[in-house]
Amino acid sequence: MKLEKVLIANRGEIALRVLRACRQLGLKTVAVHSTADRDLMHVKLADETVCIGPAAPKDSYLNIPSIIAAAESTGASAIHPGYGFLSESADFAEMVERSGFTFIGPTADTIRLMGDKVSAKKAMQKAGVPCVPGSPGALGEDIAENKKLAAKIGYPIIIKASGGGGGRGMRVVRSEAELEDSINLTRREADMFFNNPAVYMEKFLENPRHVEFQILSDGQGHAVYLGERDCSMQRRNQKVLEEAPAPFITAEQRKSIGERCAKACVEIGYRGAGTFEFLYENGQFYFIEMNTRVQVEHPVTEMITDVDIVREMISVCAGNPLSLKQSDVKIKGHAFECRINAEDPRTFIPSPGEIKMLHVPGGPGVRWDSHVYQGYKVPPYYDSLVGKLIVHDDTRELARFRALEALNELVLDGIKTNIPLHRELLTDPAEIKGGVSIHYLEKKLASESEEEQNAAKEQPQS
Ligand code: ADP
Repeated sequence: MKLEKVLIANRGEIALRVLRACRQLGLKTVAVHSTADRDLMHVKLADETVCIGPAAPKDSYLNIPSIIAAAESTGASAIHPGYGFLSESADFAEMVERSGFTFIGPTADTIRLMGDKVSAKKAMQKAGVPCVPGSPGALGEDIAENKKLAAKIGYPIIIKASGGGGGRGMRVVRSEAELEDSINLTRREADMFFNNPAVYMEKFLENPRHVEFQILSDGQGHAVYLGERDCSMQRRNQKVLEEAPAPFITAEQRKSIGERCAKACVEIGYRGAGTFEFLYENGQFYFIEMNTRVQVEHPVTEMITDVDIVREMISVCAGNPLSLKQSDVKIKGHAFECRINAEDPRTFIPSPGEIKMLHVPGGPGVRWDSHVYQGYKVPPYYDSLVGKLIVHDDTRELARFRALEALNELVLDGIKTNIPLHRELLTDPAEIKGGVSIHYLEKKLASESEEEQNAAKEQPQS
């Protein structure tokens, strides 16, 4: 199979990232965009452009017939879905392939298998990937049976929707008295939001870290793991600051978990780039889900391995075997990624508008992945990510200094950004030490706002 022209079914920084990878591979590009996105950087750079609908995502970036029609009319041979939008829609992948285009990602069947958390967990258990202890599958109706199961797992437990996503459709249960109502409520929500009432039960981990493994697999019997990332610094399930490798994870742990993830990919015939997400607590890894697409934070892995993940995923989906073996993967140094959002650093309210002044940091080990430029207007309709500042150096401490210096140099005027939050995080004693839990940032923000309120109360009235 040979690709000539790739349609990029996304927007923002990832669309530009995909365009760059296509150029490296000598492929022509088609940018599809909404009416609100005519001025996007990758739209300016693409070989061809097609407007696929109005600003609202459901009318443009989620509009499958429009995207397929654009591929048809431009003679594209493949579609890259990026992340978010349709990237994990099995129906989209199926429609793309049925219409005669290559989907740059796994097959629709694989997306379906991994998109359903119960079937994903079963497949991973079979491959020897460690999972959170829980129900063997979806919960039945028998409450006595469910009580027995929960007692065996031990409270607290969490009830999760099998078809859930985006941090929705889950409920923590701390005692048997709450169990029946919680199951029923989660079932109803699951039916309403995900059109699938199946729920399952897991041990609730109180203070885990989020550690995820990057893999590449060619669907032809070869898979490699590119080490892990730590993405524990989160707010409302949204990652804020990521790093690779994950602090305090040993080479033995990396090898043991990485090998099992790669083996699982071979077993399910996985094609493309993928991420195995784990919760990590008390030295143990617990698989929670697989993302069957490229992720926002993939650059930290690229920086420590020198592997171009996006280029490789396009190549394997075009039918080529993986260009690297596990023994070629060498982890070198440390990388951080700061997600720079157009938002108020304290209230997190989005701050769309014109970027009046932009100055981008540079120097060794500094990378800026962004679609914005001076004079660009950040539209209010989409995710607030305006750029990713990625830094690399020999050690974690040097990389942290480099990140701070780069943040000092970065100027994005005209809109509010979370740059001050990143500065604060990178000088936070717990972050300096490394290995914070997924609840750290929210607790920190809550205690700061409490302090601010107390200070305000103590102000003399004038
Ligand atoms: P989604 O697909 O909605 O993102 P995940 O299964 O990835 O769902 O879980 C999202 C988040 O919910 C996790 O990052 C973690 O914070 C929390 N979570 C999920 N399962 C557990 C668990 N068993 N114990 C503790 N926290 C959990």
